[in-house]
Amino acid sequence: MPKVMSPCRVGVQNRNMNNIPNDVDATYEDDVQYSSSEDDSDFEDSDYDLANEDDDLFMDNVDDQVVDQGVAIGRKSFKHEDLINLVFKVGMIFESVELLRKSITEYSLKHRVDIKMPRNEKKRLRAICEKGCPWNLYASDDRRAHGMMIKTFCGEHNCHKKWVLKRCTSNWLADKYLESFRADKKMTLGNFARIVQKEWNLTPARTKLARARRIAMKKVMGDEAEQYKLLWDYVQELRRTNPGSTLYLNLNALAIVEVESLAPWKWFLETLKANLGIKNTYPWTLMTDKQKGLIPACSKVFPEAEHRFYVRHLYNNFQQHFKGENLKIQLWKCARSTTMDQWNRNMDKMRALNQKAYEWLEKMAPNTWLRAFFSTYSKCDILLNNSCEVFNNYILDAREMPILSMLEHIKGQLMSRYYNKEKDVGEVWQGPICPKIRKKV
Ligand SMILES: [Zn+2]
Repeated sequence: MPKVMSPCRVGVQNRNMNNIPNDVDATYEDDVQYSSSEDDSDFEDSDYDLANEDDDLFMDNVDDQVVDQGVAIGRKSFKHEDLINLVFKVGMIFESVELLRKSITEYSLKHRVDIKMPRNEKKRLRAICEKGCPWNLYASDDRRAHGMMIKTFCGEHNCHKKWVLKRCTSNWLADKYLESFRADKKMTLGNFARIVQKEWNLTPARTKLARARRIAMKKVMGDEAEQYKLLWDYVQELRRTNPGSTLYLNLNALAIVEVESLAPWKWFLETLKANLGIKNTYPWTLMTDKQKGLIPACSKVFPEAEHRFYVRHLYNNFQQHFKGENLKIQLWKCARSTTMDQWNRNMDKMRALNQKAYEWLEKMAPNTWLRAFFSTYSKCDILLNNSCEVFNNYILDAREMPILSMLEHIKGQLMSRYYNKEKDVGEVWQGPICPKIRKKV
């Protein structure tokens, strides 16, 4: 949390802005230090509910942790002023009251003055500075000009520059940096803080920055509810542009699939089976994680197929009980054993390393994860499936997005991956046997 410094103290000491006391500099350094390692974990903060209301409208929600460092930094603080300074004049017309309001907010932040808008209606707007300061602005709807016209204006201030800028709300930040987030969806809080600091000499609290990012990302990704409304059209368009593909949309089922139980898995596998025209399940090999309901669903729908588990998933469970590099290496050696002898030797080594780990592995059905026990019908010896690992990563990236953005995101990533893979294949492969197997043979 940035420390709040008394504006009076520095206001007196720093009339000459080039004369910067050392302690102010030191505080400034502290305040803008955002460790990059912390940045991403913050994205998960559940501070979102704090911003449910439009905090522009509620003074209670105004974060008075915002410390204006501009005065303290001296010369640096106002270097953008000439470029971005908006000069209000009587007779100036704004096409909407919203635009005028935004301009006043920016003016307030740029000039570090505390402008209030006591009269803020659709057709009339009055803005004043703090008590005793002559600055004021009045604008009203002008029918001939089709917009808000400034009718009276006094641009003079006799107030002090402010440390705390009430108009720097998370909503304002979100609106101001919406396009930045669109361009860089993974912008960290640290970078966001640096940009705001550089452009405005403001150092809002991390919680406020996080809130602003959340609001902006929500807008960028599109409104969730709106996307659900478009889902039927989306599916229709996919059907139209991808003849031969099968698409199912059942909005009620979506919620059930998330729970991971037998019924939706069964439905999924039956659909897949029908889609691929599978009658005899014997020649097929399924490879899955051990999600709830998935194992019984597989044995019901694909009763004769071989069912393997990703060894990485198995290892993830294993390492929750048994940690250490040696055990990990030994587990993979076991999984890669291609003969019974080799498997026995590797399991003996495992027992020597850790009796409990050995017992844990003994309980796993060997034909689900050990090469030596795989059926020889399948000519594939993989223990992992990279496509699925990659797909899982894509889902992790996309799961915070609204439904259509999520589907498009995953689709886009898969398409690029397949395209690039195919390109690689074209360059490396010679003949029908893939390079790794060719080496083995
Ligand atoms: Zn003023």
